[in-house]
Formats: sequence, structure tokens, C-alpha cells
Amino acid sequence: MSNANPVMPDHDRAALLARLAALERAGRPLEPGTGRRKALRNAVSASVERFLRQIEHLKAFDDAPDRGAGLLTSPIGEHGLPIADVIRLFEDDVVRPGLNPASGGHLAYLPGGGIYPAALGDYLAAVSNKYAGVFYAGPGAVRMENMLLRWTADLVGYPAGAAGNIASGGSIASLAAIATARDAHGLKGADFARAVVYLTVQAHHCLEKAIRIAGLAEAPVRYIATDDGSRMLPSALAAAIAADRAAGLEPWLIIAAAGTTDTGAVDPLDQIATIAERERCWFHVDAAYGGFFLLTDHGKTLLKGIERSDSVVLDPHKGLFLPYGSGIVLVRDPRLLQATHHYFGNYMQDAFQDEGEISPADVSPELTKHFRAVRMWLPLKLLGVKPFRAALEEKLLLARYFRDGIQSLGFEVGPEPDLSIVTYRWAPNGASLEETNRLNQRIVDYVRRDGRVFISSTMIDGRFTLRMVALAFRTHRRTMDQALRVLREAVKADP
Ligand SMILES: *Cc1c(COP(=O)(O)O)cnc(C)c1O
Repeated sequence: MSNANPVMPDHDRAALLARLAALERAGRPLEPGTGRRKALRNAVSASVERFLRQIEHLKAFDDAPDRGAGLLTSPIGEHGLPIADVIRLFEDDVVRPGLNPASGGHLAYLPGGGIYPAALGDYLAAVSNKYAGVFYAGPGAVRMENMLLRWTADLVGYPAGAAGNIASGGSIASLAAIATARDAHGLKGADFARAVVYLTVQAHHCLEKAIRIAGLAEAPVRYIATDDGSRMLPSALAAAIAADRAAGLEPWLIIAAAGTTDTGAVDPLDQIATIAERERCWFHVDAAYGGFFLLTDHGKTLLKGIERSDSVVLDPHKGLFLPYGSGIVLVRDPRLLQATHHYFGNYMQDAFQDEGEISPADVSPELTKHFRAVRMWLPLKLLGVKPFRAALEEKLLLARYFRDGIQSLGFEVGPEPDLSIVTYRWAPNGASLEETNRLNQRIVDYVRRDGRVFISSTMIDGRFTLRMVALAFRTHRRTMDQALRVLREAVKADP
């Protein structure tokens, strides 16, 4: 650095100023004026309105043969296109083909829908572009995130001091929990091959993925036996731990599900918590799907014991109907989440913590991040909790309604659902397992080609099984009737 007078020759300086002015002009489209902003916003709003006004009639799955390839015929170029052309590309090649996750007819995997106020929250977050990583930079933004985490922790029944993070989804949230569990247990590389993990075959694959990413690929994994409702058997868990201890191994992590992905089974959390406490194992509950059912009386009863866990994951992009991109991890002891994720760089020396608010950057792998809280905060502030509670209770009852209906159509059904997933299959008398599996595969294919609703399948004990998931906020009784109609047609077309 120097305090000397400017030494640039005048003609150089004039050229520099001219170039700066020209570049500023060329970059001006980055800052549209009021009129242009309005035109852009109107075009986007019009597209959104076209979509939402038709949503009841749009296909839940569009088997478009080109699969959005039209997008590639319009490469990124030096010059821009009119907004109408850009929106058309988006509607034709992105919105239309494939799954329509905004549709109430999306009854596959684990849908949520994407409530409109959440989209407006994203808009507000992006325009203000508040920095939500560090309290010092975005005190209100960080307070908002932490307030939502405390609200969720309260729902789970964690102590007020519990810490957490709004991550991009359940997978990343699970990774934060697993890495925290590893460090909390003091596991080092030399211990990994002896450090045993307990879960069931129904555990979501993101957990074994997280275990591997956390460096623990060598850790032995025990798949604990389940009851006929796919729930972990506590006696089998206790026996497996005892056997491993006797063999000189080190049990350290028990993973239970509060709503498995396949069937929505809720493991007996309270009994598992007792075993975890006795065995001094970390107890993680994967409530990515089932967690927000805690808003209902049924959920509160069924998930009892979740409050005794060490960490838990809930997906607002499932049970709170937010658009994709929100998964919450909560850890009972805030110091442990911080110990794994805290870091400090010299370039951060101006940042400091304040007023008891933990900075998201200290409890997650992210530093700079999307200000995800607004998409959750805006709908909750605007609507209150009541409609969410009602919609979730509705989904529980829709599952019962559908199960009854599909059984009346002659389908074989799985066990009474714990939550809002129904399993069923078409199993004509006398058909072999292979034939039955093929028949059900053809039903899935028929429903996908038809597109009015979208279902998925899974294998349970070697049996090709159909699933119906009522979770999207736009899924109602008429959707169930529609699904039953389509499934009846599918069977008729190919008995
Ligand atoms: C969806 C889900 C996950 C994974 O979460 P993503 O948000 O898809 O990353 C984990 N566990 C369960 C039970 C789930 O339903």
C-alpha cells in the first residue's frame, strides 16, 4: 500500500475511465429498472398462474418422449433472449417432462408438494440476499433460522438448548448427525473396524452413505430383525449388542426410523432409547418422513421416545410441504454439533458470536449458504400451524381410506400403516411369485404411462410391492378416488 499521489499518465487515466464507463454500460442489464423488473415479474407470475390454475388437471407424471432435450437446443450464448422465450423453454422442457412433484397425484416416493408462500419466501431471501451463515453478518437471518430450529426442537421434545441446522435435505442433515456421533464417541481411524452400527434393512440408504462419507466404511453394520410391520425388534437389538460386546467390538450407534421410506414403519423409539442409554450408544432417529406428524395427536403418541434421542432428522420438504431443499438436523447437546463443525479462518476474524445465537456456519459444513429459513418462516407466520396440522391428519386418514378402497378392489394389502404409506399388490389366486411380481410391475408401468396419478413400488421380502404415499398437501380424498380408478383400470387392462 502506498500514500503517493496518483502517478498514472493523463492519457492512460482517460482511457481507463472510458473503459470503465463502457463496461458499466455493458453490465447494466444486471440491474433492471422498475419497468423492466415489472415486466420480468409479470412474465414469471403469468407462468406460475398458468401452472397453478391447471394443477388439478396436469399429469402427475408426463412420459414426454424427448425428456426435456429441447433445453439443449438453446445453449447459453453471449446475448440474452426475451423473457417469453426463456419461460417457454422452462415450461416445455423442464416443468412438463417427468414427475410433477407439485401435483396432488404424486403418491410415490415421499412427496411434499411445495406450498406457494414458501416460494415467495425464497424470492424474499434471494432479493435481500441476506447472509445467513454468521450471526455478525445477518443477525436477523440467523435468529430466524435458530428460532425455527427451536420450534422444531420443541416439537421433538428436546431441551431448549439443543442445536441444529437447516440443511438442503435429509441426506446432508443425516451426514451432520453421523459425523457428530462419530466425534462424540471419540472414534478415531484405528477404532472404525470395531465400531458397530445398528439399524434395520428398512433404514434409508442415505444413512449408510453418510456413514461411508464420514469415513466409517469399515464400521460393521448390523441389520436388526424386524416384526411383521417392519419395525425394529428391541430384543434383537439388545442381543446383537451383547454378542458384539462379547466379541470385543464397540457398539456406538443405533439408528431408528420414525417412518421408514418403504412402508412408513415407526420403530419402537422408547424401548430403543432405553437400550441406547444402557449401552451408551448414540441414538439417532431418522424422522425425515415421519417427524412432522408430531403435529398430530397420533404422531405424538406413536413417536414417543423420540425426545430421548441424541440426534434427529426431519425434512420440511416432506412433512411441512416446502419445496425441495430443506432438511433439519437437531442434536440434543449443542456442544457436540459444534465440536464437529466449528472452524475458524483468519478471513473470519471480524465475525463473532453474540447473544447466545449459534451461527449456522459453526454447526454445518456450509459457510455461505442459501437463506433457507425464509421459505419455512413465511408460511408458518402467514398461516399459523393449524393448517399444517390439519393437512397431516388428513394424510393419515387418507391412507386408511385408500387401504380400505384398494382392498375392496381385490388387492392384497400390507399391514395397517403406522403413518400415511399403504402397501398393496395384485395377487391373483394361483399365480406364482414371479408372475405376481411381473403383474405388479406392469401395473406400475400402466399408471406411469397414464399419468393421472403417480405411484412407486418396492421389494418387501422378495415380493414386488406397490406403495401409495399420501403426504403432498394437494392430495385429498378425490385424489384417492382417482388413484383407485386408475388402478382398477390397470388391472382390467392386464388381469
Ligand atoms: C427422504 C428421506 C431421507 C433422505 O432425505 P433427502 O431429503 O431426500 O435427502 C432419509 N430418510 C428418510 C426416512 C426419508 O424419507
